[in-house]
Amino acid sequence: MAERALRGTRLGATSYENDRNTDLAPRQEVAFDCPRGHRFTVPFSAEAELPLNWECRICGDLAVTATGDTPTPKKVKPPRSHWDMLMERRTMADLEEVLAERLAVIRGQRGPGEEPAPRHARQRKSA
Ligand SMILES: [Zn+2]
Repeated sequence: MAERALRGTRLGATSYENDRNTDLAPRQEVAFDCPRGHRFTVPFSAEAELPLNWECRICGDLAVTATGDTPTPKKVKPPRSHWDMLMERRTMADLEEVLAERLAVIRGQRGPGEEPAPRHARQRKSA
């Protein structure tokens, strides 16, 4: 009876290719320890940049690499601000020029002699 049962596999579920004559990419097993005491390994490519953390396979907590030596933290470049990027493209003299141009445009729109009111005069007095 069991022999006559129709057997099948889901499409794409199983590969019938074998590993013979196949060169598997070099890999390494990295062990992780989770704070709840679970230990598991994750295979990585030998060239992969190893993560410091991995989600625990058992409980989902954040596990850390179990190797005694903590991987040297990457040198993190300080984030570049808009100002830094601006200073890479422009010199101070450039900026003065651009500022002068813009001010001229703005003053031109307002009309000559219409200087903006001093700041304190525009502020509403609070009771
Ligand atoms: Zn765990």
